[in-house]
Amino acid sequence: MLPLALLVITGGHDFERPQFTALFDSFEGMTWREAQHPNANDSYAPEAARSYDVLVLYDLNQQITEEQQAALLAMLRSGKGLVVLHHALADYQAWDDWLQVVGGRFYLAPTRRGAETVPASTWRHGVDIPVRVVDPKHPVTRGLSDFTIHDEVYGGYEVLPRAHPLLTTDHPESSPTLAWTNWYGNSRVVTIQLGHDHFAYENPNYRRLVSQAIRWVARRP
Ligand SMILES: [Zn+2]
Repeated sequence: MLPLALLVITGGHDFERPQFTALFDSFEGMTWREAQHPNANDSYAPEAARSYDVLVLYDLNQQITEEQQAALLAMLRSGKGLVVLHHALADYQAWDDWLQVVGGRFYLAPTRRGAETVPASTWRHGVDIPVRVVDPKHPVTRGLSDFTIHDEVYGGYEVLPRAHPLLTTDHPESSPTLAWTNWYGNSRVVTIQLGHDHFAYENPNYRRLVSQAIRWVARRP
């Protein structure tokens, strides 16, 4: 079987590049390449999208044209898998459909949601976060037991009721759900809040989680 081809989108937020590279290099049966903003969103056009099986977002970006939005949604409707990692949970704050795709959102500023105003979400580095595996039979979490990870905690981000929780935490500075599945059209979507730096990238539980998330959204167990 051909290796899974990943496209990893970055840009708009710093990260520890060598250790992040090592994370993706560690995945067996996969090849990956990176597309950086400002031109990364051209990768969703039908011709460009044929060159990869799974889209991984590790960007922090608000700029996207209507044409790129339409191409991205069409690609997902047709079944391309999507994995959203860490700060990419704050992408596209002003794009309503994107919230439905991801199934959650980190709010960079106070935001009107219907009749309410949601406060800005919060973050803190270097926290030991207790992680509970709430669906251990799911292909994304298979083989994982509850663990602790040294990572950045996010608080006050939204997770939609339609999302299916995989990991939770009772850390008081975090929203309760740390990882979830969602769907859009024919695509499978997995969002993982964790993943700030090498403490996460090098954590064997995190490696397993991201790798299994990629396989599951690609429908390649
Ligand atoms: Zn971070």
